[in-house]
Amino acid sequence: MTIAERMVAPIDARDSVRAIRGVGRQRAEILQNAGIESVRDLLDFLPFRYEDRRVVTPIVALTPETPSALIRGEVVGLRSRVTRVQRMELIEATIDDGTATIPVVWFNQPYIADRIVRGDRLVLFGRPRTGNGGELQFDAADWEKIAADGHGMLEGRVVPVYTSIGGLPQRWLRGAIAEALAALERLDDPVPANLRTGLGLPPLAASLAELHAPSRFDAAVSTKATGEYRRLVFDEFFAFQLAIRARRTFSEKQPKPRTIVIDDAIRATVRRTLPFRLTGAQKRVLREIADDMRSPRPMYRLIQGDVGSGKTIVALVAALVAIANGHQAALLAPTEVLAEQHFRRIGQLVDCDAIRVVRLSGSMTAREKRDARAAIESGEAQLVVGTHALVVGSVNFHSLALAIVDEQHRFGVDQRKALFDKGTMVDILVMTATPIPRSLALALHGDLDLSVIDELPPGRRPVKCVVRGSARLPNVLDFVRERTGKGEQAYVVFPVIDESDRTDLKPVTAGYEAIRASLSDRRVAMLHGRLPADEKQVTMDAFARGELDVLVATTVIEVGIDVASATMMVIVDADRFGLSQLHQLRGRVGRGAASSICVLLRDETASEEAKSRLREFAVTNDGFVVAELDLTQRGVGDMTGTRQAGSSRFRFGQVVRDHALMEAARDAAIAIVDSDGPEAALDLASRIDRRQVRVEGVD
Ligand code: ADP
Ligand code: MG
Repeated sequence: MTIAERMVAPIDARDSVRAIRGVGRQRAEILQNAGIESVRDLLDFLPFRYEDRRVVTPIVALTPETPSALIRGEVVGLRSRVTRVQRMELIEATIDDGTATIPVVWFNQPYIADRIVRGDRLVLFGRPRTGNGGELQFDAADWEKIAADGHGMLEGRVVPVYTSIGGLPQRWLRGAIAEALAALERLDDPVPANLRTGLGLPPLAASLAELHAPSRFDAAVSTKATGEYRRLVFDEFFAFQLAIRARRTFSEKQPKPRTIVIDDAIRATVRRTLPFRLTGAQKRVLREIADDMRSPRPMYRLIQGDVGSGKTIVALVAALVAIANGHQAALLAPTEVLAEQHFRRIGQLVDCDAIRVVRLSGSMTAREKRDARAAIESGEAQLVVGTHALVVGSVNFHSLALAIVDEQHRFGVDQRKALFDKGTMVDILVMTATPIPRSLALALHGDLDLSVIDELPPGRRPVKCVVRGSARLPNVLDFVRERTGKGEQAYVVFPVIDESDRTDLKPVTAGYEAIRASLSDRRVAMLHGRLPADEKQVTMDAFARGELDVLVATTVIEVGIDVASATMMVIVDADRFGLSQLHQLRGRVGRGAASSICVLLRDETASEEAKSRLREFAVTNDGFVVAELDLTQRGVGDMTGTRQAGSSRFRFGQVVRDHALMEAARDAAIAIVDSDGPEAALDLASRIDRRQVRVEGVD
């Protein structure tokens, strides 16, 4: 484009940022490094805060407490000097607005002396503060010279503040974005108008204009709760939902290459296998799974259920169905200990003459692994239980129909994809004990279906939960001694393995020594992630058989461990755990008929906030309530390992705060894919937010 053309051609959102005056190759490169290539990208670069510069404050009204203010006046004094102590060059201008005067001080910006002379009129935005001599001074964050009767750029507006990009000056960035706003005149709004108005969202161009140059300033503006901001959140959620929905529709174009039937013989096998009657919730979820397995579309379902609600059993029944139809099923566990436990419990439940269950985990010998792989490849292995060792390239299934992923938050999307590719359109069932709101699940996993087991098996007793200061540990151990004397067992959980992990947390190695010394008449063992796998197994086995009284452990025992005679859970430094994690740990007890107790020991120095968090936790046994508490108190936090999965993919939206918009986006996306087809939906998605399409890998 020649300069002449550039002058006449109106700027377009699709243009490169170089179409903006003042953006040459160098600055374009700096912007590009920040992911800003087009004018639209620059428009999507929203201010992170605003400064209210609408009203001029009379100097006389300034106090050291004034948070920030715009002042306007004449330079009546100007001097520069070098400070004696730190040898900083200091320029001081005295500003007079007719109500009072105030000195404005700049450090180490000698060029200012060349730009101001006595008699100039300035607008300054900044903060008053008390100077060394006790006098009021003004720190000018921003200033501008104005004509005697003129107005400055700084005045009368709410001014956007952008995070800095590669050292580009704030003022320059503001100018460039202000120019880019010209592209809004011809910006097309890809979101259908009826959808937008139905949701009460403003048009795109107006939203971007308002976000960069607000016409108003209130709490909603500063907390990003305006309709304009929500509009951008909706757009990225909508593009995301369109992309995943379209992807799923593409992948379902071919029907699953297998027919699953569930006949009376299979029902009889299932009934024979289960040592108890399924709860109503288990039956309902099982029906949902069975429908998925028989449908021509691959299943992608998340089962949520509180710890001990019986998810694993439900998944096992699904596996039996796949196997009875001549296929293989795989169960993936997040840790070796859990894989091992699943393997043994399944071995106890199913008829091992009828069904061949094979285990595959990293700690097996090379030979064992080779044998296992051979059995998996030939199809002789019907149910395979393992860790992520199952997902690696060297494992080939004969006919994998169902993959069950336990405690999914420890698995990455890539691993799940790898599993899906281990067969042809594998049905995937993901189990999680971390109840997350549906909207969050949708945001994290895309277009999955959700089943909730919201009922515990009969006869469970709620775990009594108490909070104590850590100084009470000796009393707690007395209590543990007393109850272990009656054949009950206890877990004592520490936050870290040893001092090298975190110096501010109590390590399990030292804790183990201390507990062993004080419970010298009890059988105490230690379990943590860095012990050799066989040693861990021996310890777990011994504890499960009741040959140990106390297991001193880290959170390796957090998920899935199931020992019915364990009735005491003591958690050291409980204030340092997330509530959902505490709930997982607490779920390790209360699995038998005896009443169980969970003691949360908090550090004596725990904050009031931490204490009240623990108190709130202690009074509820409901995992969904805990999850809500956790969410409201910490945001998504690390309870589901969602930070990178759920939060960073969106620039504007926060999946927890904006969950209603996520639901709306999903409904709208489903409607569009159904009516216009996946190609049109993808096209729409990339016109709304290309990034979301790229991330989904269907571009
Ligand atoms: P989750 O995986 O949801 O934590 P599990 O499937 O491991 O739960 O079940 C927890 C415990 O409850 C296991 O000991 C299991 O055998 C038992 N259980 C599961 N379902 C039932 C039921 N319907 N009736 C009685 N006990 C059950
Ligand atoms: Mg489980």
